Amino acid sequence: MLISIIIPIYNESEGIKTFHTKHLLPALAKEAPLSFEIIYVNDGSKDDTLKKIHSLTKEIFPIRIVNLSKNFGKEIATTAGIFQAKGDAIVIMDGDGQHPPAEIGRFIKEWQNGAQVVVGVRSSNEKEGVVKKYGSKFFYKLFNATAGHEIIPRSTDYRLIDRVVQKEFLSFSERNRITRGLIDWLGFDKTYITFSSPARIAGSASYSFNQLIKLAFNSFISLSLRPLFLVGWAGAAITLLSLIIGILVLIEQFILGDPLNLNITGSALLGIFISFLVGIVLMSQGIMSVYLSHVHGQTQARPLFVINPKGSSLLNEDE
Ligand code: UDP
Ligand code: MG
Repeated sequence: MLISIIIPIYNESEGIKTFHTKHLLPALAKEAPLSFEIIYVNDGSKDDTLKKIHSLTKEIFPIRIVNLSKNFGKEIATTAGIFQAKGDAIVIMDGDGQHPPAEIGRFIKEWQNGAQVVVGVRSSNEKEGVVKKYGSKFFYKLFNATAGHEIIPRSTDYRLIDRVVQKEFLSFSERNRITRGLIDWLGFDKTYITFSSPARIAGSASYSFNQLIKLAFNSFISLSLRPLFLVGWAGAAITLLSLIIGILVLIEQFILGDPLNLNITGSALLGIFISFLVGIVLMSQGIMSVYLSHVHGQTQARPLFVINPKGSSLLNEDE
């Protein structure tokens, strides 16, 4: 049994050696009969991270290095690593120590017990910045309310996937990707394990506030089209409401001769008419988004379906 460990790294010069020798190697050594390959994906680091990983000892466990030509971002870097992995199972983790390698054994155990995807979930009782804490809380609330499918709060990229899942993952061609979103989309037999995430070994998180906002936004755009449809529904509601108000006002004012003494002015009528038109504009945006969603789905070119070989009996089993 070979297990691949994939670690995307960007500007981790300060901590990478400690991570590798003090955290990763001892954790892997504990899983004795299993063999490992370690794949570092250098995501266009601007410091001497690459030199540092080249200097790590390759004797204990083989190390492969994928050196990306520039910074592509963690999601793409992870994908590059998944392409390289040859293992029966693949563990994906951060290289800053925040996904403690000591937990790898638990991931593997779940896999050996039959799980095809093992998802690491950060325990809730840990300190994080107020902005990030409430920001991500808000994100999950909003996402789960609008996206149409749920994601488990605090689930992370610290994951194990079976090679069967890897094979399907590699068929994704979309550019704006969220690795964990894609893995979730694939399905398969999944279990969750909770771990507590320590502080970084060194340095600071390279995701700035802006990038986090962008990531959250991307999650919405790539995983859900509900926000677009919501605009359309809002338009329909506005149109209907202004139509009803308009009709009531017309009847009250001009047919019944204003028995309620409302004295509706011309500009008030104009206001009602304009909101009626605004509703129609929003509604047509909603209709347009239906077309867009078809185009979007087509260009994402996701597989039509995914078969889980576990539990299937198929015609060709030529692998
Ligand atoms: N990372 C990467 N490319 C980037 C940014 C980050 O490969 O453009 C790596 C980084 O080196 C680390 C992991 O992704 O191993 C998580 O990054 P970080 O700690 O900055 O993010 P956070 O802990 O906030 O998720
Ligand atoms: Mg981190």
